[in-house]
Amino acid sequence: MAKRGMLFVISGPAGAGKSEIVKTVLKKHPDVRLSVSCTTRAPRPGEVDGVSYHFVDDARFDELVKEDAFYEWAHVHQNRYGTLKSVVQKELEAGRDLILEIDVQGCLQVLEQDPSAVGIFVSPPSRENLEKRLRARGTESEESIRVRLNNVAGEVATAYKYHYVIIHQDWSDVPNALDIAADEVYSIITAKRCEEKNRKGFLDALSSELRA
Ligand code: 5GP
Repeated sequence: MAKRGMLFVISGPAGAGKSEIVKTVLKKHPDVRLSVSCTTRAPRPGEVDGVSYHFVDDARFDELVKEDAFYEWAHVHQNRYGTLKSVVQKELEAGRDLILEIDVQGCLQVLEQDPSAVGIFVSPPSRENLEKRLRARGTESEESIRVRLNNVAGEVATAYKYHYVIIHQDWSDVPNALDIAADEVYSIITAKRCEEKNRKGFLDALSSELRA
């Protein structure tokens, strides 16, 4: 039987830079795939349906929930987001390693329901850095920044449930912070691939070849 792919769930607070890290991993390593989620939020300029997300309306999302089509789903900032079971099954059955880049609630659902999934938490290096990144977006009011920072405290409290924690350093302190973080993610993927249990098939085949 062909080896199943592995599931890597990357999550962390908004503003910690998880999507830039994932984009960098995918660009450098085409052997890793990213699951395209469904969302009820409107596409942003430049986003393509079926590539960035599957953009669906509320009624369609409700149908998908009823059909039990989601591997996990969650409310995030007034919208709903979900990972399709069909995508996860197809990629893992084809032996491809798959990344889910999802929010903390969704990640905790996955880690509870699938003990073989690998949780990677992307953390900002400090409160000061996160505040700076949120302010740099220029879209948040002072009140909203305060609320978000409070929410982050709760999100960081869940990091203890993950298998790995990546600290995404401040670009002004570490100019290649993004590459370092992406390399750390790919190192985790590589280490999981090299685990003895994932090399059993190879070792069995090699052993019988040597004994022939
Ligand atoms: P954005 O709207 O900025 O693309 O994403 C907002 C948040 O939703 C991010 O934290 C992102 O990781 C999360 N997200 C994206 N897709 C999914 C998904 O399928 N499930 C869950 N639970 N969160 C998701």
